[in-house]
Amino acid sequence: MNKLTFNYHTHTKRCGHAVGEDKEYVLAAIKLGIKKLGFSDHIILPEGFEQEGIRGSSTQLEDYLQSVKYLKEKYKDQIEIFVGFEAEYYPQMMNYYKWLLEEKIDYLILGQHCYLEDNEFHWYFHKDSPVEDIKKYTDDVIEGLKTGMFKYLAHPDLFMHSQASFNKELEEQSRRILKICEELHIPIEINLCGGRRRNYDGLTYSYPNEEFFDLVKDYNLDVIVGMDAHDPEHFEQIAVDLGFEFAKKHGIKPLLDFDIK
Ligand SMILES: [Zn+2]
Ligand SMILES: [Zn+2]
Repeated sequence: MNKLTFNYHTHTKRCGHAVGEDKEYVLAAIKLGIKKLGFSDHIILPEGFEQEGIRGSSTQLEDYLQSVKYLKEKYKDQIEIFVGFEAEYYPQMMNYYKWLLEEKIDYLILGQHCYLEDNEFHWYFHKDSPVEDIKKYTDDVIEGLKTGMFKYLAHPDLFMHSQASFNKELEEQSRRILKICEELHIPIEINLCGGRRRNYDGLTYSYPNEEFFDLVKDYNLDVIVGMDAHDPEHFEQIAVDLGFEFAKKHGIKPLLDFDIK
């Protein structure tokens, strides 16, 4: 049996597409044997940047922080709890992120789902997104990681959600991501949520992607198995085993411990 001792990728119902109470996530994590648990809901942005069903609104920030703080204290003898966010790199938000990190939260992980232009959110990925879109995603991931604000890169292969199959151009973008993570010593994630999601064609699992992770052996990289839990029930041993088996198949030894702070 593979043992997952930490998970820093946990959502809450505030994002609008996760379910369950915060406490239920903690109890499920304890039951699975997790010793370090990080809440990293989709980044709550300042007023005026709401995205319903994607992220919580600015009015929920304090509730999120207070709830995790309460659970951290309540369960401190059983599990160590941290609070953070899974955030996109939005150049416009760097001062806000800095304030969060200094005053409010323990960490950020990078999950680059969309970009912000003229105060509007845009998704990179659509069915059969052209390589230019994948390149923009890659550029933004690289710029984001360079800020030094993000502790690890969630689902680096997220772009496979938009693709029916891997190819040479996608390999080129993948290698740019892997190279910057190697240079900056930023771990990448085998995302256990992707295994629950199909690509736009419904043909393959979006991520973790076999071809992407085949490239990892060419780099000196740390790899984290992340639950990306959107439901307390996602803390299940079968998902952990799938993640570790996936890693093994690609010659990867996932980190067995990682400090987020
Ligand atoms: Zn989500
Ligand atoms: Zn996530």
